[in-house]
Amino acid sequence: MDYKEHIAIVQDWPKEGITFKDITPLMDNGKVFKSAVDEIVDYSEDKEIDLVVGPEARGFIVGCPVSYALEIGFAPVRKEGKLPRETIKVDYGLEYGKDVLTIHKDAIKPGQRVLIVDDLLATGGTIEATIALVEQLGGVVAGCAFLVELTYLDGRNKLDGYDVLTLMQY
Ligand code: 5GP
Repeated sequence: MDYKEHIAIVQDWPKEGITFKDITPLMDNGKVFKSAVDEIVDYSEDKEIDLVVGPEARGFIVGCPVSYALEIGFAPVRKEGKLPRETIKVDYGLEYGKDVLTIHKDAIKPGQRVLIVDDLLATGGTIEATIALVEQLGGVVAGCAFLVELTYLDGRNKLDGYDVLTLMQY
């Protein structure tokens, strides 16, 4: 499947100098979206995953259908102030700014095997922060899956020793 045909490239968004990869055309095409989700599900099948974790907001879009297909739970990672119960938090940097990510303290039981899913790997700041949250709660990161990888931003160097799947690379 040529997924790149279904990615819109948007120059200078959300800021000048950023070339944004818009995944909404891919989501808009049911067959292509299903194929992408199925590839992540296939990748996960032999990893004995207990839980899918995804950062807001596009990590929910890709991660939730994966958890549905695997018949396991999904735990959201969100910006500060968005989760209603007790959380742990971590500071992180991303391609365009800095922020804080949080997860509910009881979202993961120690030893649970976690698949982290997001739409895109850029500098790796978001995934690094998400891994830190999962590991602080005693979770084991069994895999990380993304639709898109921006290889020129070298996010992979933050994922040494982790199992990573990306469906398309720029
Ligand atoms: P990183 O933390 O790896 O620098 O950036 C990845 C995060 O920012 C992901 O959660 C992703 O949703 C968002 N992001 C950064 N750049 C892009 C982009 O070009 N397209 C999309 N769809 N998301 C992006």
